[in-house]
Amino acid sequence: MKKTLTVRTGSKTEFIDITRDIEEAIRSEGVDDGVCMLFVPHTTAAITINESADPSVKSDILMVLNKIIPWKEAYGHLEGNSPAHIKSSIIGTSEIIAVEGGRLKLGTWQGVFFCEFDGPRSRKVHIRLL
Ligand code: ZN
Repeated sequence: MKKTLTVRTGSKTEFIDITRDIEEAIRSEGVDDGVCMLFVPHTTAAITINESADPSVKSDILMVLNKIIPWKEAYGHLEGNSPAHIKSSIIGTSEIIAVEGGRLKLGTWQGVFFCEFDGPRSRKVHIRLL
């Protein structure tokens, strides 16, 4: 099964919890057990798995990323968004998660986050269920 999720971001940098959207896609396809591959086809965005219970975790991650990769630096890339490209490479553009009983086999505190680093924009997440 293949599906593409559209994520509308609202800020320059933000993490958006997309766990429910992915599980909805899995349910709508009637997939019970398998493997879920997630891929972000962008050079200034990423995908990651981390704590979804306390929203401070995602804001702390963003705070540190913005600190260690500053917007103002002697970057050569003329588009002016090198920090977003660097963050995308550091965090990564794919995740693989087991599917069991029609749900993502995540840990109790884990959620899947779309990471925007040069928004706001309309973004895509490709979902493949095997
Ligand atoms: Zn660029």
